[in-house]
Amino acid sequence: MPELPEVEALRDFLADRLTGRTVERVTPVAVSVLKTYEPQPSALEGRTVTGVVRHGKFLDLAAGDLHLVVHLARAGWLRWRDSVPSAPARPGKGPLALRLTLATSEQGGDGGGFDLTEAGTRKRLAVYCVRDPSEVPGVARLGPDPLADEFTREVFAGLLRGERHRIKGLLRDQSVIAGVGNAYSDEILHAARLSPFKIAGELSEEEVSGLYEALRTTLRDAVERSRGLAAGALKSEKKTGLRVHGRTGEPCPVCGDTVREVSFSDSSLQYCPTCQTGGKPLADRRMSRLLK
Ligand SMILES: [Zn+2]
Repeated sequence: MPELPEVEALRDFLADRLTGRTVERVTPVAVSVLKTYEPQPSALEGRTVTGVVRHGKFLDLAAGDLHLVVHLARAGWLRWRDSVPSAPARPGKGPLALRLTLATSEQGGDGGGFDLTEAGTRKRLAVYCVRDPSEVPGVARLGPDPLADEFTREVFAGLLRGERHRIKGLLRDQSVIAGVGNAYSDEILHAARLSPFKIAGELSEEEVSGLYEALRTTLRDAVERSRGLAAGALKSEKKTGLRVHGRTGEPCPVCGDTVREVSFSDSSLQYCPTCQTGGKPLADRRMSRLLK
């Protein structure tokens, strides 16, 4: 699943290619992809893209006072096309969920555009056509962006104060902090040398400072690595940059201990016992409510 760094890199990539260009056609292909009814995405046709913004893990393509907001979810992706097939996209064939085609530029040549695709059978990729991004419920309830200048250590400490949730779940909660998901929360906790099961409100001042630094540094480094990469290369770059997430059974790059995993009903987390839990493996209780 793309998280803040990948979505930020996609934003960068799209801002370069879309800003100032005219939308020729927006074609929702998958039945479930479009979550709004009015305005229709066709209202974007003929308009000029004025900017591309990120809200947490949401991408927001603005064309004046209209916004096409995209949430790629777990299995969604964006594929850039220098030229878009002229045959109309048909539903039910493959992973194509929505296609946006640009008008031919004044320099001539093909207009290009992108496809939103989604693998698998659980369709969660969501597109909203709205007049204000805050009309998208997932955007309206987002917490602060952890890379924003205003996101100071004191702001972060305030979010943790009194929290009875486990730190792993809290970092992933989009209404607390925008943009961190399962992979980067594992990476951040590993960098901070904290157990994923620690209660957020019980961290010491020193632990809060360490976690704040780990949060900012891990995300900034991942954004830097991803920036400038083509959309197609982002997934493999994300995987390469991860130190514990998705690496069960591999050696920890810091201490050499074996990376372990705790499984839940619909996800799993990875951690290093030596770096994070005083050498003791966490019980694998297979209870998803632990993280809720
Ligand atoms: Zn380690």
